Amino acid sequence: MPNDTPKTISVTSVTDLIHHPYTPPAGFDAPQPGVFKASTVYFPTVADMRRREWKDKSAYTYGLHGTPTTYLLEERLCCLEGGLQCVLVPSGLAALALVALAVLKTGDEVLIPDNAYGPNKALAHGELRHFGITHRFYDPMDPDDLSRQITASTRLVWLEAPGSVSMEFPDLPEMVRRCRERGVLCALDNTWGAGLAFKPFDLLGDGDGAGAEGSLAVDISAHALTKYPSGGGDVLMGSVITRDPALHLQIKLCHMRMGLGVAANDAETVLRSLPSIGLRYAAHDQTARALAAWWQTQPQCAQLMHPAFLGAPGHAHWQALCDRVPGTGLAAGLFSVMIDARFIQAQVDAFCDGLKLFKIGYSWGGPVSLVVPYDIASMRQAWPGHLKPGTLVRFSTGLESAQDLILDLHQSAQAHLPMT
Ligand SMILES: *Cc1c(COP(=O)(O)O)cnc(C)c1O
Repeated sequence: MPNDTPKTISVTSVTDLIHHPYTPPAGFDAPQPGVFKASTVYFPTVADMRRREWKDKSAYTYGLHGTPTTYLLEERLCCLEGGLQCVLVPSGLAALALVALAVLKTGDEVLIPDNAYGPNKALAHGELRHFGITHRFYDPMDPDDLSRQITASTRLVWLEAPGSVSMEFPDLPEMVRRCRERGVLCALDNTWGAGLAFKPFDLLGDGDGAGAEGSLAVDISAHALTKYPSGGGDVLMGSVITRDPALHLQIKLCHMRMGLGVAANDAETVLRSLPSIGLRYAAHDQTARALAAWWQTQPQCAQLMHPAFLGAPGHAHWQALCDRVPGTGLAAGLFSVMIDARFIQAQVDAFCDGLKLFKIGYSWGGPVSLVVPYDIASMRQAWPGHLKPGTLVRFSTGLESAQDLILDLHQSAQAHLPMT
């Protein structure tokens, strides 16, 4: 037996371990903020406990209500998107669900663009329907169709720019005007724009969205932080940003009652990535455009879906919103290609499998380029008239060299999509 056999720890020393009196000196300042983790938050007195208020962020009361780490991330995201209040949730999809659950009730109807992020449509068809909330899909490229579908029971209109997968860019300011005319709340899924391609609370670029004369703003911006704000493909998180205190409180209370808090380490991961989002977004964008330009020269490409390219669905709307000073507009790192209908699904699958640098995987915004073939026919009510026949492949560019990625596309296309 070694002579340092552990001694029985006295109750007192366990207590000392927990109530240890040392506190580090104040004055530690460094580039990254500290990570504060808590469920329990201490109150110095019962009176203080009763006095504290979390709804306006003037104090801390419980981990679910916010910590210095989550408050900080919320404020920085407001700065990114031009909002005033922010709620963090455990995923981008949770952000969409929170908006729906916070503002809709039995008998209400929600309108969703037909090219919306698939799980948002599934939520409407599943839980919302079960709660007696109806939904309808509108043509995202036709503001008149949106106006026609707004009825007395319409309570919420979802907007997405561009639409998921098929990448049509809507006339966002006009869509918001149509909602305003009818007094219907509009919520934007702002994951693609990320607060960088355009300002969701200042769609005309004429003010800060704070009610300046002529300014036009969405009511709610929901954002999958999982994508560009995280930038690592390693964290799931979402945000819901507003500029109206009453609307924010409605969302915040629902958030609290549903228990949708986020973990401190996850919040810290996003805080760590946030300072480089502008550089990364521009780099993803540049690479995506280089690849898209290459695809345009390839005979296998029946149609290119990238909002910054002439001829792509909604290109003029992208120009008007994101490219006000021509040549300076941003467009993220996503695009889709319709592979010519002469190739069968199995060939397109083999092309995706044959890529060496592109990984097959969902989501986007990380350092690694991703590819996914999609079956558009199964995702839409009808085949959209503006889409050529074929098999759609969605590309998300990472941070690799564009030249290397093009060589990779070239080798797999040569092997699996032969033109002769
Ligand atoms: C990824 C994504 C979401 C959902 O984000 P998760 O964090 O994966 O739940 C929502 N909307 C859009 C447009 C997305 O691309």
